[in-house]
Amino acid sequence: MTETVLVIGAGIGGLCTALALGPTGRSITLLERDGTPPLGDADSAFRDWSRKGVGQLRQSHAFLARLGKIIKTDHPKLRQDLLDIGVRELAFDGLLTPMQKASYVPTKEDAELTILTSRRTTMELVIRRYVERMANVTIRSNIFVKSLLTDRAPDGTLTVRGVAAEGETGPVELSADLIIDTGGKNGSAIEQLVAEGAPISEESETAGILYFTRHYKLRPGRSEPPREGNPPATGDLGYLKFGVFPADNGCFSITLCTPEIEYEMRKAIVQPDIWDAMVANIPGLKVWTMPDQAQAVSKVFGMGNLHSRWRRLVRDHKPAVLGFFAVGDSLIRTNPLYGRGCSFAAVEAYLLRDVLSQSDDPATRVQAYDQRLTDDVGPYYQSMLQQDRSAMRRAEQALTPDYKPGFKSRMLKSFLEDAVTPAIRFDTNLLREAMRGFHMLEHPDAWLKRPRNLMRVLGYWARGKKRNAAGYPPKLGPEREAMLRALGLSWQADIALLAQKRRDDATAKAKA
Ligand SMILES: Cc1cc2nc3c(=O)[nH]c(=O)nc-3n(C[C@H](O)[C@H](O)[C@H](O)COP(=O)(O)OP(=O)(O)OC[C@H]3O[C@@H](n4cnc5c(N)ncnc54)[C@H](O)[C@@H]3O)c2cc1C
Repeated sequence: MTETVLVIGAGIGGLCTALALGPTGRSITLLERDGTPPLGDADSAFRDWSRKGVGQLRQSHAFLARLGKIIKTDHPKLRQDLLDIGVRELAFDGLLTPMQKASYVPTKEDAELTILTSRRTTMELVIRRYVERMANVTIRSNIFVKSLLTDRAPDGTLTVRGVAAEGETGPVELSADLIIDTGGKNGSAIEQLVAEGAPISEESETAGILYFTRHYKLRPGRSEPPREGNPPATGDLGYLKFGVFPADNGCFSITLCTPEIEYEMRKAIVQPDIWDAMVANIPGLKVWTMPDQAQAVSKVFGMGNLHSRWRRLVRDHKPAVLGFFAVGDSLIRTNPLYGRGCSFAAVEAYLLRDVLSQSDDPATRVQAYDQRLTDDVGPYYQSMLQQDRSAMRRAEQALTPDYKPGFKSRMLKSFLEDAVTPAIRFDTNLLREAMRGFHMLEHPDAWLKRPRNLMRVLGYWARGKKRNAAGYPPKLGPEREAMLRALGLSWQADIALLAQKRRDDATAKAKA
């Protein structure tokens, strides 16, 4: 008998679930609280699609090779639809330094290392239209899932058998064999299960940053500044991370990320004049945004409360709930900085497809899904957590005038700046292998664990700064104090605030 599936949400996770499970022949219904996209083109979707359910809809998005590969392999027609509307494939050779370009010989693998990029509304619009054409998939819009319908077995085990929802014609109850929650970071299905006693555990920590994005359009007749000969359009100044996201149809966006503890900057950054001044002070952004080059077409969209979070539907090897799965941010959330959220959702959907096809037993399915998630996306998640923690430490150090790094920190900094950075800027093969981890095509640390790669990186370290000089990136932008002064903001206020917080913490600790 055909299994029936109800999916809560038709965002990226819901759509990827349809891409994964649609071809299995199951009968799938996506329930989406927001309305349908406008009928027009990518510009009208960006302008007019009201998506109260997706707070990050107008934040910059880029889609990694892991997701691109799934689309290319399993849904080639979708890839064509994306390209036809203007979604771009940014190829590996765009990352090469001029030195590397001069001797570049493409390999077959390089075609895999492609980033898909567009406004998120464009990407989502096209995937949605494609999914809508799948015979066994239905998307119902304007229907808000209010709660899960659950049964409790005598041993206490909860089984989810359906949902209670509010549609355009009033309340409705729907049941299915499987309920898949793709309600995103603010979805409430898992909270309900926890409240009903399901032993679902959760680990969560702050990403330590705030995200700010503004959209631009190239002026008529202008094209994007070439990478070669221009300062880098992405970078990390320690107190600020920045990036240009080339998009579809002459559009691009700029994202600036501030550490949470940079209160002066994060308060001011949404003001258009402050934003413009920040962008003008970073050479790699200035070339994109000069008045004769491009025009800002949106306000500055800010987003905070960014967390990494992993919820487990298994405790002590036993399923916490049956008949229920989650895909996307409702299950695993990541720091947007790494651009992995949508790829995570796609990978999760395909792992779920595999475990559903391998067993009909409800408990085995939940256990197998949890294990596959741990094995596959776990290493990326852990590596992002580590990077976030170290970025937060660096942000604190930037606000600590008398900070003196210890031996270990100095060595690590030097290894990254004087070994890894020049190595991947000189050696195309090292860059290629490092990018496989970035794109989630292999374990994030695999490239550096290969002895021949490690030896090469150490070789660059041993050569010393002088001989590596051509391998260092150009200066990305001003130091913190210079930037804040240029913006007319206090560069000392947050230093004083952090110092005070440390004193308060020390006093509280002494009292305890
Ligand atoms: C600032 C920011 C930037 C990001 N940049 C990137 C990036 O560059 N690359 C990348 O891969 N990822 C990025 N991400 C992550 C990415 O946006 C998410 O990982 C992805 O959208 C997760 O998909 P989802 O389906 O879980 O959630 P969403 O895409 O948020 O979709 C959830 C859907 O569920 C619906 N819904 C919620 N509750 C209900 C309900 N009760 N009933 C019915 N419908 C409901 C919502 O309306 C929505 O449509 C970014 C995230 C943020 C916050």
